[in-house]
Amino acid sequence: MSAQTITADPLLVEQIAERRAALLSRIAERTDRPVRVVCVTKGHPPVVAASAMAAGFTDLGENYAQELRSKADELSDAVTASGASWHFIGRLQTNKVRLIAPVVSLWQSVDRASLAEAVAQRAPSASVLVQLDLAGIDGRGGCRPDDAPALVGRCNELGLHVEGLMGVGPPGDPEDARAGFRLLSALADDLGLAERSMGMSGDLDVALDEGATMIRVGSSLVGPRPART
Ligand SMILES: *Cc1c(COP(=O)(O)O)cnc(C)c1O
Repeated sequence: MSAQTITADPLLVEQIAERRAALLSRIAERTDRPVRVVCVTKGHPPVVAASAMAAGFTDLGENYAQELRSKADELSDAVTASGASWHFIGRLQTNKVRLIAPVVSLWQSVDRASLAEAVAQRAPSASVLVQLDLAGIDGRGGCRPDDAPALVGRCNELGLHVEGLMGVGPPGDPEDARAGFRLLSALADDLGLAERSMGMSGDLDVALDEGATMIRVGSSLVGPRPART
């Protein structure tokens, strides 16, 4: 399949670039650590991801396997040209691993051995994060924090590169996310893992306070998501 030409929308690029600059200074005010911002484009059409790249983002996050694969195919030229890469951040069925293995650079939602095995099979020595269940919310995924050391060990045995941990805070008051984020950081320290992917539009300040090295930001950069049909 040849890549279609999806071009960035100049107005959108300007808007996203302004929000990006504001976010980067907000991060710099809060912490001296380098923090990667993954721009979450799920639910938005490919032009939004193209515009995010044109606005300077090189880490793009998606939640749904089919949506990621079609965007990655449509945007492959722009992704190559800007040196951008795709993060998979959603719940993943093992039978979808094959579809996205050619395009994912960081698997952020590895939360069970069967998924780790599928990733290791389709994307040998891939970089992964182990996702913790911080909120006990149905459908959000993640392994119990108690189970994380064993899952990290299993990933290592499979030849995967575990770069760190990922977690999603509970919806609502951002302060409610603090204890979970703190636990995630402490566990990453114990396991000698550098990356802590935590914090979204609503709770990124708390996540930065608690040691995030990577935040995943969607709606406050690219606007509210159209309803999923
Ligand atoms: C949707 C999503 C995000 C981004 O959420 P916003 O509130 O739009 O910033 C981050 N991480 C995960 C796992 C998500 O599903």
